[in-house]
Amino acid sequence: MSVQEYFDHGELVAVLTTQPLDRTLDYKAPEGGCFLGAFVEVPLGPRKVLGVVWGPGQGGFDLTKARSVIRVLEVAPMREEMRVFLGKVADYTLTPMPAMLRLATRAPGLGDPPSMRKIYRLGDREPDRMTDARTRVLDVLRDYGGLAFTLKELAEQAGVTSSVVKGLVKQGAAREEDSPRDLPYPHLDPDLPGKDLTEDQAAAVARLQTGQRTGDYGTTLLKGVTGSGKTEVYLEAVAEALRLGRQALVLLPEIALTAEFLNRVEARFGALPAEWHSGATVTERRRVWRMVGQGDAQLVVGARSALFLPFRDLGLVVVDEEHDTSYKQEDGVHYSARDMAVLRSAICGARVILASATPSLESWANAEAGKYERLDLKSRFGAAILPEMKPIDMRAEQMQPGTWISPSLRQAVQQRIEKSEQSLLFINRRGYAPVTLCRACGEQIACDHCDARMVEHRFLKRLMCHQCGETKPVPEACPSCAVEGKLAPVGPGIERLAEEAEATFPDANIVMLSSDLFGSARALKAKIEEIAAGDADIVIGTQLVAKGHNFPKLTLVGVIDADLSLHGSDLRAAERTFQLMRQVAGRAGRAEMPGQALLQTFQPEHPVIRAILSGDEEGFWKAEAAGRQAAGVPPYGRMAGIVLSGPEVGPVFDIGNAMARNDAPLTQIGGQVFGPAPAPIARIRGRHRVRLLVKAPKGAPIQDAIARWIAPLRLKGDIRITVDIDPQSFY
Ligand code: ADP
Ligand code: ZN
Repeated sequence: MSVQEYFDHGELVAVLTTQPLDRTLDYKAPEGGCFLGAFVEVPLGPRKVLGVVWGPGQGGFDLTKARSVIRVLEVAPMREEMRVFLGKVADYTLTPMPAMLRLATRAPGLGDPPSMRKIYRLGDREPDRMTDARTRVLDVLRDYGGLAFTLKELAEQAGVTSSVVKGLVKQGAAREEDSPRDLPYPHLDPDLPGKDLTEDQAAAVARLQTGQRTGDYGTTLLKGVTGSGKTEVYLEAVAEALRLGRQALVLLPEIALTAEFLNRVEARFGALPAEWHSGATVTERRRVWRMVGQGDAQLVVGARSALFLPFRDLGLVVVDEEHDTSYKQEDGVHYSARDMAVLRSAICGARVILASATPSLESWANAEAGKYERLDLKSRFGAAILPEMKPIDMRAEQMQPGTWISPSLRQAVQQRIEKSEQSLLFINRRGYAPVTLCRACGEQIACDHCDARMVEHRFLKRLMCHQCGETKPVPEACPSCAVEGKLAPVGPGIERLAEEAEATFPDANIVMLSSDLFGSARALKAKIEEIAAGDADIVIGTQLVAKGHNFPKLTLVGVIDADLSLHGSDLRAAERTFQLMRQVAGRAGRAEMPGQALLQTFQPEHPVIRAILSGDEEGFWKAEAAGRQAAGVPPYGRMAGIVLSGPEVGPVFDIGNAMARNDAPLTQIGGQVFGPAPAPIARIRGRHRVRLLVKAPKGAPIQDAIARWIAPLRLKGDIRITVDIDPQSFY
């Protein structure tokens, strides 16, 4: 069966818009006709909205009433592969198509004509009068041959004011022209020399490049400790994709998108790649979107939503730090960029590389089952070796009340200071103290809108809710009993730990690294570079430091509370603790000096702590896999989280109860419904939250069943429902 690819003027076409409608709308093709997949502007009531030509019109109404497409946008039509991909993600995540289209067009101003800017070249006349300044401008234009400059660039190069350039234009000695702002990205050269690879690395590269040349889909789990050269290895796979004339995408957790990484790409390929992340300007996003679509960006380095860019010929997707939780989007469209990268690649015949030192159990299990190929880089590059890991049994330490650095850890840090080496104290908690308690009545200060305690941030001199971001000043008197001067911080956060470290090591240079302490990502990155250069004795950090930074002088990692994330309602608690601790420990001893990691714990016999210490990863995964298999939970069973929310708790529960009673669509597929129950965070921003959990056997059509289950619901008032397939966090 052939699909109609082109529609003549006046023919009826179905257009998918970004507006929240449950179907496509019919329009007449505009003058000049339009292609299937064309991006168009269509009238909707009094407005003009963005849409894509999705197929032939449905008809069935008075055709004289049909309105016309206003215009076809000057961008590459959406390819069939992309339409299929968006449809499958919509089915998988139970997301309406308009929301999918919004995700795929997150570059404002797509419809605008390419914006122009002025550029300057050498003119063909002599100026009436030569000055020093004028000579310098003309010299610059001559020296750089045919190159065009913006006004600012030219004036800066020549060391003159812009009026000198304007004067030359008037005289015809320089020419002013309009040029499109959205320029293609500079060419990346895959044939520049790479590094000399170790035997391990070379073998992995050979496998990946062979896979790349098949031109077929395939996923590889690239596992290797931090510093083993995973990045070097996957950059060679990128090189092979580029040689084959295909595009590549490297996904990174947002925080790992550093200048250091981009510089490595530039060193390998001779130019910078396109960047896609939340910090990019509107113009830059639009440029990336357009150039990717017309094949004028060979490599995109980006955060998770880059997966929805309109690549012309995507040949490789790398998901670096594939276990990272930030790949799961938790609002709007609930999708896992890792899983959807695999889906997209399967559709367009691309390769996928999932790189990690501590893969997710999902990927490990897929490799075990033979669905993914697995490549291991066994050793660290060069002289670097993995740190020695030891527990500090907190039951045996003499602790002063209100302190968290044990005598054993203090001694180890002191030794590093004496040797001019760096130590990292890791605590995964922002702020000063997690709880502010009234010593008179026992009240704990809570957020007015959420079911969460307020966290004191001394740096900001305020209390903050980590759920909704609401802040308020630390009160003098208890809000409950009105007694003054009795409010006390309980437990440590990073700021409090820094205070203790300053008192314990008064002469040390101490640096705090927490995402909320820096005004901008650039300031944070600058600080990280200073530390890497050796400018700190003690680094105190949250989760932020666990990711991909290289601190060569760091030889000690002290984990303040290794037990912190062991418990919780989350089925992945053990896995997360294991990954986090191993990642943090991986910060030590990256260069020539051997490192040590000390874990403060009250449960040194806990199986997860033992697995971390012994480094028996396969053992840990096998045990974890057996546990989840027995419980029938992911990746050995299917799961979905349904959250109902509304301003009043009663009506929300009523709907939850009705859903639990009418669970036939799920029991028919062998599934089970749990709940309704108050969600672990029962109130956020004033909305009460009620949760149902759905479990189903692996392979059961859970999306279809859930769609049938919720279709008859009539949500009244301000009640909302969100469905999260394969939930990653349970809140
Ligand atoms: P990973 O991504 O596994 O953490 P990287 O690729 O970042 O490891 O490598 C760690 C460090 O070792 C980097 O500074 C990298 O440039 C260097 N390195 C790795 N392999 C080589 C090699 N074959 N030749 C030279 N330097 C290498
Ligand atoms: Zn709140």
